[in-house]
Amino acid sequence: MTSAEFSDHALRPRSLNEYVGQTKLKDKLGVYLQAARGRSEALDHTLLFGPPGLGKTTLAHIIAYELGVNLQKTSGPAIEKPGDLAAILTNSLEEGDVLFIDEIHRLGRVAEEHLYPAMEDFKLDIVLGQGPAARTIELPLPRFTLVGATTRPGLITAPMRSRFGIIEHLEYYTAEEIGQNLLRDAGLLGFALQGEAALEIGGRSRGTMRIAKRLLRRVRDFAEVAGEPVITLERAHDALDKLGLDSAGLDDRDKKYLETLIHRFAGGPVGVDTLATAISEDALTLEDVYEPYLIQLGFIKRTPRGRVATAHAYDHLGLPVSGDGDL
Ligand code: ATP
Repeated sequence: MTSAEFSDHALRPRSLNEYVGQTKLKDKLGVYLQAARGRSEALDHTLLFGPPGLGKTTLAHIIAYELGVNLQKTSGPAIEKPGDLAAILTNSLEEGDVLFIDEIHRLGRVAEEHLYPAMEDFKLDIVLGQGPAARTIELPLPRFTLVGATTRPGLITAPMRSRFGIIEHLEYYTAEEIGQNLLRDAGLLGFALQGEAALEIGGRSRGTMRIAKRLLRRVRDFAEVAGEPVITLERAHDALDKLGLDSAGLDDRDKKYLETLIHRFAGGPVGVDTLATAISEDALTLEDVYEPYLIQLGFIKRTPRGRVATAHAYDHLGLPVSGDGDL
Protein backbone atom coordinates (compact mmCIF):
# COMPACT_ATOMS: atom_id res chain seq x y z
CA MET A 1 0.00 0.00 0.00
CA THR A 2 1.55 3.30 -1.06
CA SER A 3 1.34 6.44 1.00
CA ALA A 4 -0.73 8.07 -1.74
CA GLU A 5 -3.40 5.49 -1.07
CA PHE A 6 -3.56 6.75 2.48
CA SER A 7 -4.98 10.02 1.28
CA ASP A 8 -7.35 8.09 -0.93
CA HIS A 9 -10.92 9.27 -0.85
CA ALA A 10 -11.81 5.81 0.38
CA LEU A 11 -10.62 6.89 3.83
CA ARG A 12 -12.79 9.97 3.90
CA PRO A 13 -15.93 9.35 5.96
CA ARG A 14 -18.93 9.45 3.66
CA SER A 15 -21.81 9.70 6.08
CA LEU A 16 -22.41 11.62 9.30
CA ASN A 17 -22.24 8.33 11.22
CA GLU A 18 -18.69 7.68 10.08
CA TYR A 19 -17.57 11.20 10.98
CA VAL A 20 -15.74 11.00 14.29
CA GLY A 21 -16.20 13.57 17.09
CA GLN A 22 -17.77 17.06 16.75
CA THR A 23 -20.71 15.52 18.58
CA LYS A 24 -22.79 18.64 19.21
CA LEU A 25 -22.35 19.84 15.66
CA LYS A 26 -23.21 16.41 14.28
CA ASP A 27 -26.36 16.15 16.41
CA LYS A 28 -27.65 19.51 15.20
CA LEU A 29 -26.66 18.92 11.60
CA GLY A 30 -28.35 15.51 11.66
CA VAL A 31 -31.63 17.22 12.58
CA TYR A 32 -31.27 19.95 9.94
CA LEU A 33 -30.46 17.37 7.27
CA GLN A 34 -33.41 15.17 8.22
CA ALA A 35 -35.75 18.17 8.21
CA ALA A 36 -34.50 19.36 4.81
CA ARG A 37 -34.88 15.85 3.39
CA GLY A 38 -38.38 15.56 4.87
CA ARG A 39 -39.45 18.80 3.17
CA SER A 40 -37.54 17.91 -0.03
CA GLU A 41 -35.79 21.25 0.26
CA ALA A 42 -32.20 22.34 -0.06
CA LEU A 43 -30.43 22.69 3.30
CA ASP A 44 -30.00 26.26 4.52
CA HIS A 45 -26.68 27.86 3.62
CA THR A 46 -24.07 26.67 6.08
CA LEU A 47 -20.92 28.36 7.33
CA LEU A 48 -18.26 26.15 8.93
CA PHE A 49 -15.34 27.71 10.70
CA GLY A 50 -12.34 26.45 12.62
CA PRO A 51 -8.60 25.84 12.25
CA PRO A 52 -7.26 24.02 9.16
CA GLY A 53 -7.45 20.24 8.91
CA LEU A 54 -10.39 19.66 11.28
CA GLY A 55 -12.71 18.34 8.60
CA LYS A 56 -14.67 21.22 7.07
CA THR A 57 -14.23 19.94 3.52
CA THR A 58 -15.14 16.44 4.65
CA LEU A 59 -18.29 17.75 6.30
CA ALA A 60 -19.32 19.53 3.10
CA HIS A 61 -18.98 16.21 1.24
CA ILE A 62 -21.03 14.50 3.95
CA ILE A 63 -23.81 17.10 3.68
CA ALA A 64 -24.05 16.43 -0.07
CA TYR A 65 -23.95 12.66 0.48
CA GLU A 66 -26.65 12.77 3.16
CA LEU A 67 -28.87 14.89 0.91
CA GLY A 68 -28.19 12.65 -2.08
CA VAL A 69 -26.99 15.55 -4.22
CA ASN A 70 -23.79 16.54 -6.01
CA LEU A 71 -21.07 18.72 -4.55
CA GLN A 72 -19.36 21.42 -6.58
CA LYS A 73 -16.15 22.62 -5.01
CA THR A 74 -14.33 25.91 -5.38
CA SER A 75 -12.49 28.41 -3.21
CA GLY A 76 -12.65 32.11 -2.36
CA PRO A 77 -9.45 33.09 -4.19
CA ALA A 78 -10.77 31.42 -7.38
CA ILE A 79 -13.80 33.74 -7.40
CA GLU A 80 -12.28 37.11 -7.96
CA LYS A 81 -14.71 38.64 -10.44
CA PRO A 82 -18.50 38.36 -10.83
CA GLY A 83 -17.86 36.41 -14.06
CA ASP A 84 -16.04 33.69 -12.08
CA LEU A 85 -19.07 33.35 -9.84
CA ALA A 86 -21.51 33.33 -12.76
CA ALA A 87 -19.53 30.54 -14.44
CA ILE A 88 -19.77 28.34 -11.35
CA LEU A 89 -23.40 29.06 -10.56
CA THR A 90 -24.74 28.69 -14.06
CA ASN A 91 -22.60 25.89 -15.50
CA SER A 92 -23.01 22.78 -13.48
CA LEU A 93 -25.18 23.48 -10.45
CA GLU A 94 -28.40 21.47 -10.27
CA GLU A 95 -31.44 21.75 -8.03
CA GLY A 96 -30.51 20.98 -4.40
CA ASP A 97 -26.75 20.68 -5.07
CA VAL A 98 -24.14 21.76 -2.55
CA LEU A 99 -21.69 24.47 -3.60
CA PHE A 100 -18.66 24.32 -1.33
CA ILE A 101 -16.54 27.47 -1.16
CA ASP A 102 -13.35 26.95 0.85
CA GLU A 103 -11.63 30.04 2.28
CA ILE A 104 -14.81 31.98 1.70
CA HIS A 105 -13.32 35.01 3.47
CA ARG A 106 -11.10 35.48 0.41
CA LEU A 107 -13.90 36.06 -2.13
CA GLY A 108 -13.45 39.11 -4.33
CA ARG A 109 -15.49 42.03 -2.95
CA VAL A 110 -17.63 42.60 -6.04
CA ALA A 111 -18.13 38.88 -6.56
CA GLU A 112 -19.29 38.65 -2.96
CA GLU A 113 -21.95 41.29 -3.59
CA HIS A 114 -23.22 39.25 -6.53
CA LEU A 115 -23.38 36.19 -4.32
CA TYR A 116 -25.92 37.83 -1.97
CA PRO A 117 -28.94 37.66 -4.34
CA ALA A 118 -27.79 34.21 -5.45
CA MET A 119 -27.93 33.00 -1.84
CA GLU A 120 -31.10 34.83 -0.91
CA ASP A 121 -33.33 34.77 -3.98
CA PHE A 122 -31.54 32.19 -6.15
CA LYS A 123 -30.98 34.64 -8.95
CA LEU A 124 -27.97 36.23 -10.52
CA ASP A 125 -27.81 39.73 -11.98
CA ILE A 126 -25.63 39.74 -15.05
CA VAL A 127 -24.53 42.98 -16.68
CA LEU A 128 -24.31 42.80 -20.45
CA GLY A 129 -22.29 45.38 -22.37
CA GLN A 130 -20.58 48.46 -21.06
CA GLY A 131 -21.25 52.16 -20.54
CA PRO A 132 -24.66 53.68 -21.36
CA ALA A 133 -25.63 50.64 -23.47
CA ALA A 134 -25.12 48.26 -20.55
CA ARG A 135 -28.17 46.37 -19.34
CA THR A 136 -28.77 43.92 -16.54
CA ILE A 137 -30.49 40.61 -16.98
CA GLU A 138 -31.70 38.44 -14.15
CA LEU A 139 -30.80 34.79 -14.38
CA PRO A 140 -32.74 32.30 -12.26
CA LEU A 141 -30.62 29.72 -10.43
CA PRO A 142 -31.48 26.29 -9.03
CA ARG A 143 -32.04 26.26 -5.27
CA PHE A 144 -28.66 25.23 -3.94
CA THR A 145 -26.95 25.03 -0.56
CA LEU A 146 -23.84 27.09 -0.14
CA VAL A 147 -21.41 25.56 2.34
CA GLY A 148 -18.71 28.07 3.16
CA ALA A 149 -15.57 27.18 5.10
CA THR A 150 -13.21 29.58 6.78
CA THR A 151 -10.38 29.62 9.26
CA ARG A 152 -11.02 33.34 9.87
CA PRO A 153 -14.65 33.98 10.76
CA GLY A 154 -13.73 37.53 11.81
CA LEU A 155 -13.08 38.37 8.17
CA ILE A 156 -16.56 37.34 7.00
CA THR A 157 -18.50 40.53 6.34
CA ALA A 158 -21.74 41.09 8.27
CA PRO A 159 -23.99 40.98 5.17
CA MET A 160 -22.39 37.68 4.15
CA ARG A 161 -22.69 36.17 7.60
CA SER A 162 -26.34 37.13 7.89
CA ARG A 163 -27.16 35.08 4.80
CA PHE A 164 -26.10 31.81 6.40
CA GLY A 165 -28.89 29.97 8.22
CA ILE A 166 -26.49 27.56 9.91
CA ILE A 167 -23.20 28.75 11.43
CA GLU A 168 -21.07 26.14 13.18
CA HIS A 169 -17.64 25.98 14.75
CA LEU A 170 -15.43 22.88 14.51
CA GLU A 171 -13.52 21.95 17.67
CA TYR A 172 -10.12 20.33 18.07
CA TYR A 173 -10.42 16.56 18.47
CA THR A 174 -9.47 14.68 21.60
CA ALA A 175 -6.65 12.12 21.49
CA GLU A 176 -9.31 9.40 21.88
CA GLU A 177 -11.34 10.63 18.91
CA ILE A 178 -8.28 10.83 16.71
CA GLY A 179 -7.07 7.44 17.92
CA GLN A 180 -10.46 5.92 17.06
CA ASN A 181 -10.26 7.33 13.55
CA LEU A 182 -6.69 6.13 13.04
CA LEU A 183 -7.73 2.62 14.05
CA ARG A 184 -10.50 2.80 11.46
CA ASP A 185 -8.01 3.95 8.79
CA ALA A 186 -5.56 1.18 9.73
CA GLY A 187 -8.40 -1.36 9.51
CA LEU A 188 -9.43 -0.10 6.06
CA LEU A 189 -5.84 -0.16 4.84
CA GLY A 190 -5.21 -3.59 6.37
CA PHE A 191 -2.34 -3.02 8.75
CA ALA A 192 -2.05 -3.62 12.47
CA LEU A 193 -2.05 -0.65 14.83
CA GLN A 194 -2.20 -1.07 18.60
CA GLY A 195 -4.89 0.94 20.37
CA GLU A 196 -2.30 2.54 22.66
CA ALA A 197 -0.19 3.54 19.66
CA ALA A 198 -3.21 5.15 18.00
CA LEU A 199 -3.88 7.09 21.20
CA GLU A 200 -0.26 8.20 21.42
CA ILE A 201 -0.37 9.55 17.86
CA GLY A 202 -3.75 11.14 18.64
CA GLY A 203 -2.27 12.97 21.64
CA ARG A 204 0.52 14.48 19.58
CA SER A 205 -1.53 15.59 16.58
CA ARG A 206 -2.52 19.10 17.73
CA GLY A 207 -6.11 17.89 17.90
CA THR A 208 -6.14 17.84 14.10
CA MET A 209 -7.21 14.89 11.93
CA ARG A 210 -5.10 15.82 8.94
CA ILE A 211 -1.93 16.01 11.07
CA ALA A 212 -2.78 12.68 12.72
CA LYS A 213 -3.05 10.99 9.34
CA ARG A 214 0.33 12.37 8.31
CA LEU A 215 1.93 11.23 11.57
CA LEU A 216 0.46 7.76 11.17
CA ARG A 217 2.10 7.50 7.75
CA ARG A 218 5.47 8.44 9.20
CA VAL A 219 5.17 6.13 12.21
CA ARG A 220 4.23 3.32 9.88
CA ASP A 221 7.39 4.00 7.83
CA PHE A 222 9.50 3.58 10.95
CA ALA A 223 7.71 0.35 11.90
CA GLU A 224 8.04 -1.13 8.41
CA VAL A 225 11.71 -0.30 8.06
CA ALA A 226 12.30 -1.86 11.48
CA GLY A 227 10.55 -4.98 10.15
CA GLU A 228 7.72 -4.79 12.68
CA PRO A 229 4.35 -6.16 11.51
CA VAL A 230 2.42 -4.28 14.22
CA ILE A 231 2.69 -0.60 15.13
CA THR A 232 3.26 -0.67 18.86
CA LEU A 233 3.15 2.06 21.48
CA GLU A 234 6.93 1.93 21.80
CA ARG A 235 7.41 2.37 18.06
CA ALA A 236 4.91 5.25 17.94
CA HIS A 237 6.61 6.90 20.89
CA ASP A 238 10.05 6.56 19.41
CA ALA A 239 9.04 7.70 15.92
CA LEU A 240 7.16 10.75 17.20
CA ASP A 241 10.19 11.72 19.29
CA LYS A 242 12.34 11.43 16.19
CA LEU A 243 9.88 13.69 14.36
CA GLY A 244 10.60 16.31 17.00
CA LEU A 245 7.13 16.30 18.55
CA ASP A 246 6.90 16.70 22.29
CA SER A 247 4.28 15.25 24.64
CA ALA A 248 1.79 18.02 23.80
CA GLY A 249 2.38 17.60 20.05
CA LEU A 250 4.36 20.84 19.77
CA ASP A 251 7.01 20.87 17.07
CA ASP A 252 10.17 22.95 16.71
CA ARG A 253 8.27 25.90 15.27
CA ASP A 254 5.83 26.03 18.17
CA LYS A 255 8.72 25.83 20.60
CA LYS A 256 10.52 28.61 18.77
CA TYR A 257 7.36 30.72 19.06
CA LEU A 258 7.11 30.14 22.82
CA GLU A 259 10.83 30.51 23.50
CA THR A 260 11.01 33.75 21.53
CA LEU A 261 7.98 35.11 23.36
CA ILE A 262 9.46 34.14 26.71
CA HIS A 263 13.17 34.87 26.26
CA ARG A 264 13.16 37.74 23.82
CA PHE A 265 10.01 39.54 24.94
CA ALA A 266 9.96 38.56 28.61
CA GLY A 267 6.77 36.56 28.13
CA GLY A 268 4.93 39.46 26.48
CA PRO A 269 2.79 41.30 25.84
CA VAL A 270 4.15 41.64 22.33
CA GLY A 271 2.36 42.45 19.08
CA VAL A 272 1.86 39.58 16.63
CA ASP A 273 3.73 41.38 13.83
CA THR A 274 6.81 41.88 15.99
CA LEU A 275 6.71 38.27 17.11
CA ALA A 276 6.23 37.06 13.54
CA THR A 277 9.28 39.04 12.36
CA ALA A 278 11.35 37.69 15.24
CA ILE A 279 10.67 34.07 14.20
CA SER A 280 10.71 34.74 10.44
CA GLU A 281 7.09 33.78 9.87
CA ASP A 282 4.21 35.83 8.59
CA ALA A 283 1.65 37.09 11.06
CA LEU A 284 -1.26 35.35 9.33
CA THR A 285 0.40 31.95 9.71
CA LEU A 286 0.94 32.65 13.39
CA GLU A 287 -2.70 33.63 13.82
CA ASP A 288 -4.20 30.78 11.78
CA VAL A 289 -1.87 27.87 12.38
CA TYR A 290 0.27 28.23 15.52
CA GLU A 291 -1.79 30.27 17.90
CA PRO A 292 -5.20 28.54 17.92
CA TYR A 293 -3.63 25.36 19.30
CA LEU A 294 -1.34 27.19 21.76
CA ILE A 295 -4.42 29.05 23.01
CA GLN A 296 -6.35 25.79 23.22
CA LEU A 297 -3.55 24.33 25.38
CA GLY A 298 -3.67 27.46 27.55
CA PHE A 299 -0.02 28.28 26.72
CA ILE A 300 -0.62 31.78 25.35
CA LYS A 301 -3.24 34.48 25.57
CA ARG A 302 -4.23 37.11 23.05
CA THR A 303 -4.64 40.38 24.94
CA PRO A 304 -5.37 43.88 23.64
CA ARG A 305 -1.69 44.71 24.26
CA GLY A 306 -0.37 41.65 22.46
CA ARG A 307 0.54 38.00 23.00
CA VAL A 308 1.37 36.79 26.51
CA ALA A 309 2.86 33.45 27.60
CA THR A 310 1.01 31.82 30.50
CA ALA A 311 2.46 29.90 33.43
CA HIS A 312 1.51 26.64 31.64
CA ALA A 313 3.90 27.53 28.82
CA TYR A 314 6.77 28.12 31.26
CA ASP A 315 5.94 24.82 33.00
CA HIS A 316 5.82 22.95 29.73
CA LEU A 317 9.23 24.26 28.69
CA GLY A 318 10.62 23.61 32.18
CA LEU A 319 11.31 27.30 32.80
CA PRO A 320 10.73 29.30 36.01
CA VAL A 321 7.73 31.64 35.69
CA SER A 322 8.67 35.32 35.40
CA GLY A 323 7.18 38.67 34.40
CA ASP A 324 3.53 38.47 33.36
CA GLY A 325 3.87 34.80 32.64
CA ASP A 326 1.72 33.85 35.61
CA LEU A 327 -1.38 35.37 34.04
P1 ATP B 1 -8.80 22.70 5.37
O1 ATP B 1 -9.68 23.78 5.89
O2 ATP B 1 -7.35 22.88 5.67
O3 ATP B 1 -9.10 22.27 3.96
P2 ATP B 1 -10.50 20.83 6.46
O4 ATP B 1 -10.96 21.30 7.79
O5 ATP B 1 -11.38 21.07 5.30
O6 ATP B 1 -9.13 21.45 6.25
P3 ATP B 1 -10.49 18.06 5.67
O7 ATP B 1 -9.73 18.11 4.40
O8 ATP B 1 -11.95 17.91 5.60
O9 ATP B 1 -10.11 19.29 6.59
O10 ATP B 1 -9.97 16.85 6.59
C1 ATP B 1 -8.62 16.48 6.66
C2 ATP B 1 -8.51 14.96 6.67
O11 ATP B 1 -9.00 14.43 7.91
C3 ATP B 1 -9.31 14.24 5.59
O12 ATP B 1 -8.55 13.14 5.14
C4 ATP B 1 -10.56 13.75 6.30
O13 ATP B 1 -11.05 12.58 5.71
C5 ATP B 1 -10.09 13.52 7.72
N1 ATP B 1 -11.12 13.89 8.70
C6 ATP B 1 -11.38 15.13 9.11
N2 ATP B 1 -12.33 15.14 10.05
C7 ATP B 1 -12.67 13.86 10.25
C8 ATP B 1 -13.60 13.22 11.14
N3 ATP B 1 -14.33 13.91 11.99
N4 ATP B 1 -13.71 11.88 11.09
C9 ATP B 1 -12.94 11.19 10.24
N5 ATP B 1 -12.03 11.73 9.39
C10 ATP B 1 -11.89 13.04 9.39
